[in-house]
Order: sequence, then C-alpha cells, then structure tokens
Amino acid sequence: MRRWNGWGDDATSMGLTEGARAMLRARLGAGLPAIDATREAIVAQIPASRLPRHRLIQTDASTRFAMALGESFGDWIRKRFGALPPVPDGVAFAESSDQVRELLDLAQLHNWIVIPFAGGTSVAGHLDCPISERPILSINLSRLNRLLHLDKQSQLATFEAGTPGPLVEAQLRALGYTLGHFPQSFEYSTVGGWVVTRSSGQQSLRYGRIEQLFAGGRLEAPVGTLRIATVPAASAGPDLRELVLGSEGRFGILTEATLRVSPLPEHESFHAFFFPRWDAAEAAVRELVQHKLPLSMLRLSNGIETETNLTLAGHAHLIGWLQRYLSWRGCTEGKCMLMLGVTADTRTARDTLREARRLLARNGGVYIGPTMGSKWAANRFKGPYLRNTLWDQGYCADTIETAVDWPQVKNLMLAMEQAARDVFAQYGERVHAFTHLSHVYPQGSSIYSQFVWATAAGGFAPNFERWQRLKAAVADTIAAHRGTVSHQHGVGRDHAAHLADEKGALGMATLAQLCRHFDPKKIMNPGKLLQDGGPWAS
Ligand SMILES: Cc1cc2nc3c(=O)[nH]c(=O)nc-3n(C[C@H](O)[C@H](O)[C@H](O)COP(=O)(O)OP(=O)(O)OC[C@H]3O[C@@H](n4cnc5c(N)ncnc54)[C@H](O)[C@@H]3O)c2cc1C
Repeated sequence: MRRWNGWGDDATSMGLTEGARAMLRARLGAGLPAIDATREAIVAQIPASRLPRHRLIQTDASTRFAMALGESFGDWIRKRFGALPPVPDGVAFAESSDQVRELLDLAQLHNWIVIPFAGGTSVAGHLDCPISERPILSINLSRLNRLLHLDKQSQLATFEAGTPGPLVEAQLRALGYTLGHFPQSFEYSTVGGWVVTRSSGQQSLRYGRIEQLFAGGRLEAPVGTLRIATVPAASAGPDLRELVLGSEGRFGILTEATLRVSPLPEHESFHAFFFPRWDAAEAAVRELVQHKLPLSMLRLSNGIETETNLTLAGHAHLIGWLQRYLSWRGCTEGKCMLMLGVTADTRTARDTLREARRLLARNGGVYIGPTMGSKWAANRFKGPYLRNTLWDQGYCADTIETAVDWPQVKNLMLAMEQAARDVFAQYGERVHAFTHLSHVYPQGSSIYSQFVWATAAGGFAPNFERWQRLKAAVADTIAAHRGTVSHQHGVGRDHAAHLADEKGALGMATLAQLCRHFDPKKIMNPGKLLQDGGPWAS
C-alpha cells in the first residue's frame, strides 16, 4: 500500500549501510529522529465539508486528507508533524470526460475551487489547497487509467489522462510498444500529470521530454472542450499543445492524451565510466551530446555525489576493489561517475557504445563495464525511498533542479551547493549537497542538486523555516545565473514567485489572460503557476 506520509509502497524500503551512517554523522552530526503524528490524529482535526451531498463527491475526512498534499518537502513535514493544511471539502473520482465536464459545470455554477489530483507526486506545491471561503473540490483522475486506442501505423497511443507509469508501460508492452517516459516518480505519476507539468523521463535523450511525446488530446476547460487533433507536423499558426503543456491545472483538466510511442527496443544497457575531474567529464558529456550519438541517457555525478553513491552502494569489498582500480587509473578524490544508456537495435547499440567509449576515453574517461549500470537500472526508481530511511535516522532530504546553457553549468552547480551551505551556516549547521546532470542537450544541461541536513528539534515551524530559506536562497542563485525556474518539476506554488524573472512582464500578462480566457470564474487551481494576489494573479 502507498505510504501516507512518505514515499512509495510500504513494502519497499532502502537500508543505509554502516558506511553511509558514518558518512552522515561525519558530515552532519548525529541525526535527531522526530516523532511522527498519526494519521488518525490528523484526520480527526479535519473540519466538516462545506460541499453539498452529490452522487459523485465523497466528503469523508480520510479521503479528503489523502488529496490534500503532494510530495514536496513542505508537504512531507506537514504530514510528518501533523501540521494540518487546508484540505479539500470533497473528492470526486471521475470515471469519464463527461463526468469531468459535469463536475466543472457544477463548480462554476456554485463557485467552488477545483484542484485536479492525479498521481499526487508534485514536488512543487501544485496540490496545496488555498485558505478560502469557497468550498474546494478535488477531482481525482486515478480511475481514468486505460489505453483507449493504439494506432500502430502512426505509432500513436491514446490514454486516459490518469493512467500511471506502470499501467502505461504494461498496456503498451503487451502490444510490443513503449512510451519510454520514465521519471523517477514513474510508479505513481500519470500521463496527464506529466503533460501539464512538462515532465522529463530518465531516457529523454532517446525518447524526448513529454513535450515531444504529447501529440494531442482533450482538455475539459471551464469554458468548453478543447480537442487537439494529431498531425505529424503543421505550420498552422501557434501550436495549441503548448497551451496544455505546463498548464498545471489552471486552464482545465486534460482527460485524454495521445502520445508518440516506439516499438520495444531490441537492446538496452547502461554503462559506467569514471573521470578524474569534473571539467574533463563535463567536456566529454558535451562532446557526446553535440555529436548527436543515439544514446538514451547521460547522467553525470559530481565528485561529492560520486563518493556518496559509492558509499551508499554497500558491497564494501567490491567497492573497495573498484576504488583501488580507479585510483590506479588516475581517478582519486573528486572523481566523477558517468552513467550512459544505450537503447537501440543490437547493431546500432554496439556501434554507438564503441563510438562513445572512443570519445570518452579521449577525454580521460575510464570504462568499467555494464555491472554498475545494470544495478542502476534495477534500482532506478528506488532512490526516493531513501528519504524515508533518512527521516527515520533524523535527517531531511530535498532536491532542487534547473537547466542552463553550457557556459553557466559548472558555475551554477557550485553556486547552488554553496547557497545551501550558507543558509545552514546561519543556523550553525551543515548540509550535505551534491549534484548530477541528468538531462543533457547540445545547448546546455539540467542541474539536479540534492540536499541532506539534520532534522531540527522543535517540530514543524523550525524545519519549515529552514526549508523555505534553502529554497529561496537556491532559487535566487538560479535566477542570478539565468537558469530556469524548473527543468522538470514545474512551477506550482513553490516556484511561482520567480516565474516573472523568466517570462517577463508581457509573458506573465499573457499567461494571466489565458487563465481568464479558459477559466473566467477563477475556479481552477488558484495560486499555482501564477501567484494569488500577486501582480499577475488571473
Ligand atoms: C520521488 C519523486 C521523483 C520525481 N522524479 C521526477 C522526474 O524524474 N521527472 C519529472 O519530470 N518529475 C519528477 N517528479 C515530479 C512529479 O512526479 C511530476 O511533476 C509529475 O509529472 C506529476 O504527475 P502526477 O500525475 O503525480 O501529478 P500531480 O502531482 O497529481 O499533479 C501535478 C499538477 O498537475 C495537475 N494535474 C495533474 N493531472 C492533470 C490533468 N489530467 N489535467 C489537468 N491538470 C492536472 C494538478 O492539479 C497539479 O497542479 C518526481 C516527484 C517525486 C515525488
């Protein structure tokens, strides 16, 4: 069963090796495990629903609480400390586009707020309920989970928008196809959530981001139904798909999405390389991506992340042997690990790997084979489970990501980590900060930094304050380096304050105008994307 106050299925957990515990103690001091609130105690505080009885709407407190939050660190500690946020007044489990339409019409008629809820994996505060006198209806999309049609000739698959990753792949694989979209939240996140938050999967280098995969669909907007037909390409004015991509539930509810799928690949493997230093590794990755080699993944860890991952890996004897071998090959302190994916027909895969090895060796890369790559693939969705383990040990963890052009990649990576260290230094504390590049482009790269720090004594308030200051400091650093507000997690409530830096005044006014156009009664997901009450409020 899915955990209510942590990540993932409660049958899965990730242990911490003694080496990893020692590393945390050395870097952060002893952790202070917090005492978790119980679900029963939280649910007991939930006020009565303000919605009238309706055949499609459930109003029991337990169901409403389950739709109240996503998976951001702020959401996490609200659940852990029992700091009750506003919760929806009711939840409707929509089973068709027509039911979504009916619910939106009702909400407009009665002036309710609507928050679409899909996989609930948002890490940017997309699902928070505002404090409002208007009743809040959560429209849960989890029952919209079928493959409706596969056009094999065109390689187009139409899904109901609430279909989660495992059901997307299971339904396609049974027919010999894959979407190839594997965000780390794959177990729970959905087709619709991916589209409206502009998600990126681990193998975006081969399959593309969701923007490239989204071919058309059906949006139930408060003002009407927007149907976007599929065409292979068009010069018919602005592309309406762009209005749905990244719309974050502000313009309406995507109920169906047609996606570009691929036949299952003949070959897939992942391979590890090490570099003595960051600069050579970054140059090598840039060269590979600019050569347009048909790889499916390039994931480059900086020195601190590489050491952290090797410590977390367990198998002390094998890792010790690897460290000695790498040291003999010149990769000592500060070495960086690159994980490379090859997904193709057997012959292309062989040729691609050979060419990649040649280019990487030229930049000082040491190839150590596919064993670590196979381990990475087997555990590719398990990393987030460590957050649960860390919390139990008295440590907090969060991630912040962006993307920037190549000349700024290293500077920004270092500045993000430093900004976090500066924040915690003000509390007389330390943070363990490490980074990887996971989505690389000929023009630049995403930067994905992870932060681990000791849980503060004193419950919700001091922990929330530290997290907000961390987010603000790193966001300011990103803006100062002209990085994007988000490469893959979206804007939500948590990043909305910085959106104007990126879009400019006219851009923000355009977005606000679009909100007014699709949603004149302002019922859809207020405060997300565009701040409520701010200069660009719709
Ligand atoms: C552990 C973890 C790992 C993650 N890894 C990645 C990653 O590798 N790549 C990545 O891109 N993201 C990642 N994310 C972020 C998150 O999974 C994505 O933002 C995802 O696309 C959200 O999808 P969801 O179905 O869970 O949507 P939800 O979280 O339920 O909703 C997100 C937003 O979209 C709106 N919404 C959802 N469905 C619809 C719809 N059909 N119509 C209109 N509005 C809708 C909601 O109202 C909300 O505003 C990760 C999150 C976690 C917790």
